[in-house]
Amino acid sequence: MTAEEKDELFYRDTESIAFPKLDDHQLAQLESLGARQTIRAGEIIVKAGQREFPMVLVISGELEVYEDRDGVEQILANPGPRDFLGEVSMLTGTSSLASYRGKAEMSEVLLVPAAKLRWALAELPGVGEPLVQAFMMRRERLLRDKEFAGLRILASPRCSAGHRIDDFLDKNHVVHRLIDATTAEGLAICELHELTPAGLPVLIASDGTITPDPTILDVARIAGLLRPLSTEQDPELLCDLAIVGAGPAGLAAAVNGASEGLETVVLESFAPGGQAGSSSLIENFFSYPTGISGGALTSRAQLQAHRFGAKFSTPSRALTLSFAEGEYGAELRIEGSMTVLRSKCVILSTGAQYNLIDAEGREKFESMGVYYAATKMEAKFCKDNTIIVVGAGNSAGQAAMFMSEVAEKVIMVIRGGDLTKSMSSYLSNRVTAQSNIEILYHTQVQKMMGDDRLKSVEILNSKTGEVRTVETAAVFSMIGARPCTEWLPPEILRDEKGFIKTGHAVADAPAWRNADRVPYPFETSRPGVFAAGDVRSGSVKRCSAAVGEGSMAIENVHQVLGTYS
Ligand SMILES: Cc1cc2nc3c(=O)[nH]c(=O)nc-3n(C[C@H](O)[C@H](O)[C@H](O)COP(=O)(O)OP(=O)(O)OC[C@H]3O[C@@H](n4cnc5c(N)ncnc54)[C@H](O)[C@@H]3O)c2cc1C
Repeated sequence: MTAEEKDELFYRDTESIAFPKLDDHQLAQLESLGARQTIRAGEIIVKAGQREFPMVLVISGELEVYEDRDGVEQILANPGPRDFLGEVSMLTGTSSLASYRGKAEMSEVLLVPAAKLRWALAELPGVGEPLVQAFMMRRERLLRDKEFAGLRILASPRCSAGHRIDDFLDKNHVVHRLIDATTAEGLAICELHELTPAGLPVLIASDGTITPDPTILDVARIAGLLRPLSTEQDPELLCDLAIVGAGPAGLAAAVNGASEGLETVVLESFAPGGQAGSSSLIENFFSYPTGISGGALTSRAQLQAHRFGAKFSTPSRALTLSFAEGEYGAELRIEGSMTVLRSKCVILSTGAQYNLIDAEGREKFESMGVYYAATKMEAKFCKDNTIIVVGAGNSAGQAAMFMSEVAEKVIMVIRGGDLTKSMSSYLSNRVTAQSNIEILYHTQVQKMMGDDRLKSVEILNSKTGEVRTVETAAVFSMIGARPCTEWLPPEILRDEKGFIKTGHAVADAPAWRNADRVPYPFETSRPGVFAAGDVRSGSVKRCSAAVGEGSMAIENVHQVLGTYS
């Protein structure tokens, strides 16, 4: 089956999930949440780029959903009676991807404000389930749609800033396209907007606004990801629970905390999903017999947390944690924000960050040949090339298997002499059986070379001293990680490797010595502050373990707050 045929089948099979008609009962339930309005032909209801836009339900008449692409309108849909307009952005609070207006001379619509809709999705399962399914499917269809533009990054092919924006939007599941400025399409956009190569990269928003050389914060703001946690006049924000880090552990905590009524705020420094978000296929996660991509798994979890009312802020790096007297005793300061987040309890789920390969020239090729994840995005650069995977753990094995499907050859560079010591046996069996994977034992990458992009590497055999030069387009660094705990105060005790100690391991900490209880299993050396997932000392570094720990930490939070029911 060709790619076009596969797409056609996908769109046909998913049509009824993405565009269901609402029945009388569902209409009646939504009616009480919104207000009816009459719309004339051409009257705009929602504009692309608008935040907190309402769900629009067509009672009578016909509307038009359209995208304005460089001054040319593309009609995306013509919804009629019992159809509803809306998508994932309504749950996450990000910007609308398209504009809606009246098409029939006169239409009657029901407008349901986004906040009321979010409440309904959590409280009214009869309405919530089909709507959430439809929103998710609409987003999946848009992400697959090569014609839909969404946000556009226009960049030269060798521009690392362009790739970084692409990566940021990709990991945050924002519909976007990276356009090569040297292609016919790219040149046409440059001409239309009078852009020169020196003025790239630029970000073109859904409403046509152009931002030259945007920072990640600019991109987040334009995509609607970065929301002020409070108003400018409000120097502090109070919550029951602050979760720092939105990998699987933080997301599981957010879903459980918010669904159980805790006022929950989640801070994430780059993109929800954490390390799991960079895994192409997680095969050992409960209930997915054929595996699931880390991105899909964690984006669903984020939607679920949104649905229960958890507030996310991305990118928002927690810079400091300090303590004060009173109910909201934990204070978090956030990068780029004047607001102090004050919380009754904190869950630290900041996971770990990849170790860097100690090879000459590496920094020059970050994102331009050196990668820390092996997903479809990186696969684009590896087609029919030789690529190198450094590492011998499960993530290295997964990367090698995944890339062996697109690359001509995969070379695994391993320090030790045995793959089975650090890799699950099912995976090491597959890796060794794969004909286009070569395993080089007792080796390390010592030098990286190229111009704008990586072209070749030098590999040293530590046993024989032999040095081999290999031409390659990409090196995947899969050599473990270190905990993201350097920003924490000394009150939060850590083990010799920097992972946060909890439970029995902190029972003798100063704060617990005269306490009238012992620390709960996920509680740190500071009462009311918890740690879950990879960042916790002694944790099992697996996705399902992180999800379990995040969920269980919520139980401990309820015990501390006395909200346990
Ligand atoms: C490529 C790869 C493949 C993998 N494959 C599998 C697999 O198949 N099966 C499996 O079980 N496990 C797998 N793992 C391991 C699994 O992904 C991790 O165990 C899991 O993601 C840990 O979750 P976590 O929430 O504890 O931390 P993380 O996933 O590390 O998430 C932590 C989050 O905290 C954020 N953060 C850090 N510091 C701050 C700060 N100061 N302020 C705000 N936010 C911050 C980070 O940006 C990150 O998003 C894989 C890992 C990788 C890298």
